[in-house]
Amino acid sequence: DWVNFNDFYQRIIDRFEMGRSQSVTFKTKLPNELLYVEIDTDKMTQVLDNIISNALKYSPEGGQLRFKVEKNEKEGEIVISVSDQGVGIPRENLKNIFERFYRVDKARARKLGGTGLGLAISKEMITAHGGRIWASSIEGKGTTVYFTLPYDSTNEDEWS
Ligand code: ATP
Ligand code: MG
Repeated sequence: DWVNFNDFYQRIIDRFEMGRSQSVTFKTKLPNELLYVEIDTDKMTQVLDNIISNALKYSPEGGQLRFKVEKNEKEGEIVISVSDQGVGIPRENLKNIFERFYRVDKARARKLGGTGLGLAISKEMITAHGGRIWASSIEGKGTTVYFTLPYDSTNEDEWS
C-alpha cells in the first residue's frame, strides 16, 4: 500500500503512548510534508512494534522516547529513528543485535523476557522494503535504532 508515512507512524506512536504503563514521556518530530512510502503496513507495524517495545523495555522510569523522521532527499529515502534513554548496548555488541536469538547480557535479558528474534525479523522486513537498519548506543545513556525507506513526494495511486 502507498501510505503517508507520518500519519502511519503517528498512529503507532499514539497507540504506545495510550497503552504505556511506565512514566516514560514521548517526543515526536516529523517533517511537515507528505512522504509517501510503499509498504506492507502489517509488516511495518510489526517492525515498529518491536523497536518501540524494545525502547520501552530498556527505558528507566521517567525516561524519554524520541521519535523522528528525517528526509534524505539526495538518497530519496526517509530515515526513521527511535531513541531511548535506557541501559544502552555495549559497542562490541551493536552489530550483533540484528542476528537471530542474539541478546545482550543473557541474565538481564531473561528477566525482561523475549526471544531475541524481534530485530532479526525487523531487519528482514526492512531489507525486503529496500531499506537499511542499524543502531547507535552509549552504555548507560541510551540507544537509537534507525531505519530507512524509499519515499515519494506524490502518491503513485493518484496517477492510476
Ligand atoms: P523479542 O523481540 O524476540 O521479544 P528481544 O527484544 O530480546 O526479544 P530483539 O528485539 O531482537 O530481541 O533485540 C535483541 C537484543 O538487543 C535484546 O535482547 C537487547 O539485549 C538488545 N536491545 C534491543 N533494543 C535495545 C534497546 N533499545 N536498548 C538496549 N538494548 C536493546
Ligand atoms: Mg524485541
